[in-house]
Amino acid sequence: MDLSFVIPCYNEEGNVRAVYEAIRAVFGPEGISCETVFVNDGSTDGTWKALKELSALYPEDALTAVCFSRNFGKEAAILAGLRHPTGDAVCLIDADLQQRPETALVMYRALMSDDGYDCVAAYQEKRQEGRVLTFFKKGFYRLINRLCDIDFKAGASDFRVFRRNMADAILSLPEYHRFSKGIFSWIGFSTYYMPYMADERLTGTSKWSFRSLLKYAVDGIVGYSTKPLQFATVTGILLSVIAIVYMIVLVVKTLILGIDVPGYVTTLGFVLLLGGIQLLMLGIIGEYLSKAYIQGKNRPVYIEKEVIKGAADGENRE
Ligand code: UDP
Ligand code: MG
Repeated sequence: MDLSFVIPCYNEEGNVRAVYEAIRAVFGPEGISCETVFVNDGSTDGTWKALKELSALYPEDALTAVCFSRNFGKEAAILAGLRHPTGDAVCLIDADLQQRPETALVMYRALMSDDGYDCVAAYQEKRQEGRVLTFFKKGFYRLINRLCDIDFKAGASDFRVFRRNMADAILSLPEYHRFSKGIFSWIGFSTYYMPYMADERLTGTSKWSFRSLLKYAVDGIVGYSTKPLQFATVTGILLSVIAIVYMIVLVVKTLILGIDVPGYVTTLGFVLLLGGIQLLMLGIIGEYLSKAYIQGKNRPVYIEKEVIKGAADGENRE
């Protein structure tokens, strides 16, 4: 098998057949043997039914469909998808046709033509998103690159084609909180970044809200940097120094000028400010602690409920 597609799907009933047929139409005539692994990430619509129908429609194809017991998130779906394929290369692609199979073909060809690269990753040079979202996404990349030792390429998506060795490296990371942008950077390997323009979604809506993106950003930073913890220490030291200096000033002032009328507003202001800073620091520590707690439980990242494998999965596989 030359290439395995891994496609996470959450409420994509109107898209799975279209994306599969688009991949077939593009890669079929090229003589590249392909398999496809769909992961139904606990969709609440008819995605699983659509995948079963698709599998029945192409019984001869190397088509695997995995169904999760609930929604575990895209990262879990990617992990599950990577555990199934057998191809020499893997292509991660979304189910909504925002990422064109034609682009995947260009990426695959680029990877095959250069032994020096292990991965070809698509990135959006220009985002077709609102200004506010673009502003926050740019800010996120600036921040995470500052905080982390590894490099995060701005705009790089999960839309990638990579060799088997890189897929194995991704699978070797046992972490529960998976942040694929971080995983891709952390494992290393030489990556060629190729610009692309994302299309409009075929049907349905994006699963990302501003809140979920914010949570994703925090997960990324907490997962790949411990600098926020150092920030807590440094802030603590700084505030302690300021407090000591201020106390000395007060003592000297009291000794020279006698007892002053107390400034209640200033005192209250300081108490509130310090309380806020302390809670913020506790919150930062809590983020790390909660991640360690969940990881310590050693729960699986996802649960598979059902797996359908196409005919070509066994002895017929090329
Ligand atoms: N997805 C998933 N689980 C989720 C959310 C999304 O498997 O909990 C899949 C979704 O079906 C799609 C891909 O991840 O194939 C990207 O999601 P989406 O199109 O909503 O993200 P966007 O393109 O807006 O960044
Ligand atoms: Mg999309």
